[in-house]
Amino acid sequence: MIFFTIGMITTEKLYEHYQKNSTISTDTRNITPGCIFFALKGDHFNANEFAAQAIEKGAAFAVIDEEKYAQSDRFLLVEDVLGCLQDLARHHRKQLGIPVIGLTGSNGKTTSKELINAVLSERYKTFATFGNLNNHIGVPLSILSITDDVQIAVIEMGANHQKEIELLSAIAQPTHGIITNVGMAHLDGFGGFEGVKKGKAELYAYLKQTNGYTFINRDNPHLLEMCMTAGLNKLIYYGTENGNAIKGELKSSDPFIEVSWTNHEVSSSVKTNLTGSYNFENILAAICIGDFFDMAPEEINIGLSNYQPKNNRSQLNKTEKNTVICDFYNANPSSMSAALKNLSVISADKKTAILGDMFELGPESPNQHELIAKQASESGLDQIIFIGKDFYAFKGNFKGIFFETPAEADRYLQENLIHDHLVLLKGSRGMKLENLLKHL
Ligand code: ATP
Ligand code: MG
Repeated sequence: MIFFTIGMITTEKLYEHYQKNSTISTDTRNITPGCIFFALKGDHFNANEFAAQAIEKGAAFAVIDEEKYAQSDRFLLVEDVLGCLQDLARHHRKQLGIPVIGLTGSNGKTTSKELINAVLSERYKTFATFGNLNNHIGVPLSILSITDDVQIAVIEMGANHQKEIELLSAIAQPTHGIITNVGMAHLDGFGGFEGVKKGKAELYAYLKQTNGYTFINRDNPHLLEMCMTAGLNKLIYYGTENGNAIKGELKSSDPFIEVSWTNHEVSSSVKTNLTGSYNFENILAAICIGDFFDMAPEEINIGLSNYQPKNNRSQLNKTEKNTVICDFYNANPSSMSAALKNLSVISADKKTAILGDMFELGPESPNQHELIAKQASESGLDQIIFIGKDFYAFKGNFKGIFFETPAEADRYLQENLIHDHLVLLKGSRGMKLENLLKHL
């Protein structure tokens, strides 16, 4: 006999539960007592099947979209669990009357997000996206983690196809936005570089529609063009020229980034713990945003100089044998090219680049791998090791050692130890180059 009635629950009603319970889980391995479990579906799983387990483990409610899995009135039936999670986040965002900085771009999103947060948190109670939770599930989860005491939130939005940033903007409802840059990333899903620009410009379109502020790197002609096309007018510029709200200069990138900057009232400079000259623009963005939110230069500089890069992005690590630029979190042609340029400006007696294939490039993949192989071979390095079948296709055409698989490279490095080199280790996430670190 059934002792409960099951009917569709509204977002408003669900929001009342959320306000009482406030933690959300989408994974039965991470149930906190009293949380609301959202039974999402993926290509290879249907979490409706685990809803009962979530309740057993202490979830207050389980939100499901298949009625047959309901066992009590703690199972809340909705049309579509993912859509419901996104609606709930949208609803929560509306209740929070705070500035939200929406951030996207091809490269440097997480780094810029971390830097902006490091700066703003010197003055404000901030929230920033955890790690890289930047997609159609991560953004709603991030928004739902914002508590009432937060004064400013920084939300990273990632995309690999059109209309994704539009959806994420509608959820995060940014009052301020920034596109870090547009580059050769996710070319497959976006349909080439013009597609990348179109997809990222969805943030500008949202800001235009809602009269939000846009922070923009004036040195980047692509972003300027996109801004003009979107008809944006509340623009705050940063870059290397006069006339910007923040004007900066890269003082050193050997090996750590040092920047001097001015807001036209005060001039100062800051030393960071980041390596990679490409981080100059990420740092300027954070300065510009801190300045916009009325922070004093000293506060901004403290936030930046205290920030320690993590997660294998732009990290310079001294091992027993070598100095390793740990940048193997991900790679695409733009970031690979920037990393190679950076390797050439850092002083070292001997240099090695270990480069793994770059994924998701579609038909442009061979051409892009060839360009990177060419750049690497012309960079005056002592040793270049290419790993993966896409680079392997150019074996013999360029200086360097080529391996079809990471396993072969692993064996080679075990037998041919590298000593006293500055080593750049970079490739797409799927290449798992972190496995080679033990030999370095
Ligand atoms: P994802 O798309 O995986 O979320 P992301 O945009 O968040 O990536 P980060 O994780 O900040 O980017 O950085 C990844 C790598 O991109 C860095 O390790 C570095 O090699 C490169 N990178 C960072 N900033 C820039 C930049 N401004 N220009 C070019 N490359 C950059
Ligand atoms: Mg990221």
